Amino acid sequence: MDKTQLMKIKKDLVTRIKSSNNIPASPDIGTWPSDELDVANVNLVIETSIGTKLVENKLSAQMQRAIQKIDSGTYGICDSCQEKISPVRLEAIHYAINCIKCQRANEYQ
Ligand SMILES: [Zn+2]
Repeated sequence: MDKTQLMKIKKDLVTRIKSSNNIPASPDIGTWPSDELDVANVNLVIETSIGTKLVENKLSAQMQRAIQKIDSGTYGICDSCQEKISPVRLEAIHYAINCIKCQRANEYQ
């Protein structure tokens, strides 16, 4: 992968991190209904948005790590086993920091 490609990927990752930070963690309290049934719904919304936020934080951390790897020249090398990550995988997932084998192993933990 050449430097131009890496810079493009880095720019893409930075943009994604910035846009994910703009999503609010919870709905605006001022507009919440006082009705009991609606309160239950609001609680559901909060739980869902917290879950989404956690996933986003994890993604954001991965993207930041990928940027670090670009800067340190280790982009495309698996963080766990130090093997090369397949170019197809990197093409599909710019923030991949693990090879598919290690990624699968992590998911089953
Ligand atoms: Zn690996």
